Amino acid sequence: MNLQLEILYLLASVLFVLGLRGLTSPVTARRGVILAEFGMVAAVWGTLLHPAIVTFKWIIIAGAIGSAIGIAMSALIPMTKMPERIALSHAFGGLAAALVGVSHYYEHAGHLDRVTMSALGFEMMFGAVTFTGSLMAFGKLQGVVTSRNVTYPLQNVSNMGLFAVMLTLWAALIVNVGAPQDLMFYSLFGLAILLGVLLILPIGGADMPVVIALLNSYAGLAASATGFVLENKVLIIAGALDGASGFILSIVMSRAMNRSFRNVLFGAFGKPDEEHAVAGTSTASGEVREASVGDAAMLLSGSASVIVVPGYGMAVAQAQHAVREMAEHLEKEGVRVRYAIHPVAGRMPGHMNVLLAEADVPYDQLFELDEINDDFSDTDVCLVVGANDVVNPAAKNTPGSPIYGMPVMNADQARSCIVLKRSMRPGFAGIENELFTAENTVLVFGDAKDTLGKITETLA
Ligand code: NDP
Repeated sequence: MNLQLEILYLLASVLFVLGLRGLTSPVTARRGVILAEFGMVAAVWGTLLHPAIVTFKWIIIAGAIGSAIGIAMSALIPMTKMPERIALSHAFGGLAAALVGVSHYYEHAGHLDRVTMSALGFEMMFGAVTFTGSLMAFGKLQGVVTSRNVTYPLQNVSNMGLFAVMLTLWAALIVNVGAPQDLMFYSLFGLAILLGVLLILPIGGADMPVVIALLNSYAGLAASATGFVLENKVLIIAGALDGASGFILSIVMSRAMNRSFRNVLFGAFGKPDEEHAVAGTSTASGEVREASVGDAAMLLSGSASVIVVPGYGMAVAQAQHAVREMAEHLEKEGVRVRYAIHPVAGRMPGHMNVLLAEADVPYDQLFELDEINDDFSDTDVCLVVGANDVVNPAAKNTPGSPIYGMPVMNADQARSCIVLKRSMRPGFAGIENELFTAENTVLVFGDAKDTLGKITETLA
C-alpha cells in the first residue's frame, strides 16, 4: 500500500489519541479538539490517495453535499440544541456504516471469507440500530416522538428475543458464507432497523443523555467493524476510540444519574411513578418567596462564602460572562466564590465547563459534585443560575420520582439559596422542585443574564 497513505493514517491515529487525551481536562480541551480536527484532515487526505479510487467525481459531489450540511448544522443549530444535533450526527454515522456494509455485501456476496462476513454483519447490525435508535432519541428530545417512556408487557423479553433472532441470522450468514444469502442478510438489516426503534421506545426523555452516549459508542463500534471490512486501519482505530470513549462516557453518565447501566443497555427503565412524573404533581407544596434584585445583592454581599450552581438556564440566557463579572465584584469584597458543576447540568456532557471556560472563569474555582457537595452546609449562599433538576431534593427525598436516586447538588443545605429563573416552569425532567418552596430559598424571576447584570450594578 501507498507509503504516503500509511504515514497520513499513522499521523491521523496519533492525533486522534492526543486529541482525546486533551479532552480529559478543560484546560487542554480546546487544543484536544484542534488536534483531532487535524487528525481528521490527515485521515481524509490519506483516503483520497487510496489506489482503488478510479474517479473523484462522486467523492467531490458527496463531499460538497456533506460539507454544506455540516456547515449549515453548525451555523444554525444553537448550543442549547446540542443533544439533538449529536443524536442526528450519530444517526448519519450509523446509516453510513450500515450502507457501506450493505453495498459491500451486494458487491461481494458469495465471495466473502468468514472473518469479513463477521465484521460486515456486525457493522450492518450496529449501524442500523444506531441509525433508528439515534433518530428516535432525536425525536424524543425534539418532542416529535413522545418523550415519556412507552412500555408494554414482556417488552424486555421480546427485545431480547428479537436480538437473539438477529444473532442467529448473523451466525447463519457466517456459516453459509460460500453462497449469497440475500433473504437472511436483508432480514437482518430490517430487524436491526426495528430493534433501534424498540430499544429507545421505553426510555424516557430524562434518560436520553445516557442513551446518546451509548449510541455514540455503537456508532464507533460499527465504524471500527467497517474498518475491518474495508481493511482501513484509521477507521478501525478511530472507531475503536469512539466506541470505547462513548462506552466509558455512558457508564460515567449513568452513575451521575444513578441509572443501572444494565437497564440502559436493555432499555425499559421501568415506568416512573405517574404521581410524580407529571409537572404540577410533585411533593412541592409550600409558598414561593419572591425576592428583588436588591435583596439578592444584599444577601450575596453580606456573605462570606457563595457556591454558584449553573444549569441549562445559564446556557439559554448566555449568562456565563455575567456570572463571572458578578463573582469578581463579590471576590473584591472578600467573598469566597466557587462553582459546583453537576455532571449532567445543561444539555451535554461538559456543557457548563465549556461555557464557564469561554467566560474565563478560573478552573480552580470549578468543583465537581463529589468534591463540593459536603460543603453546602457550611456555605452562606447557594446561587442557582438556571439549574433545576440538578438541585431538586426530590432525587433524595421522593421515592418514585423520575429522578429519585440521581445524585444532586445539596443546594437545599446552604444557609440561604437564591434561585434565578424566569417562571415556575419545571426543568428537563418535567417535575416540580421543592427547593423553590423551601424556607431558606428566595426566587428572583427574570432572564438570568439580565438579573445578574442588575445584581452586579447594585453591588458596584
Ligand atoms: P433543567 O433543564 O432541569 O432546568 C433549567 C432551568 O433553567 C429551568 O428551571 C428554567 O426555568 C431555567 N431557565 C431557562 N432559561 C432561562 C433563562 N433565560 N434565565 C433563567 N433561567 C432560565 O436544567 P439542569 O441543568 O438543572 O438539569 C439538566 C437536565 O437536563 C437534567 O435533567 C439532565 O438529565 C438533562 N440532560 C442533560 C444532558 C447532559 O448531557 N448534560 C443531556 C440531555 C438532558 P424557566 O423556564 O422558568 O426560566
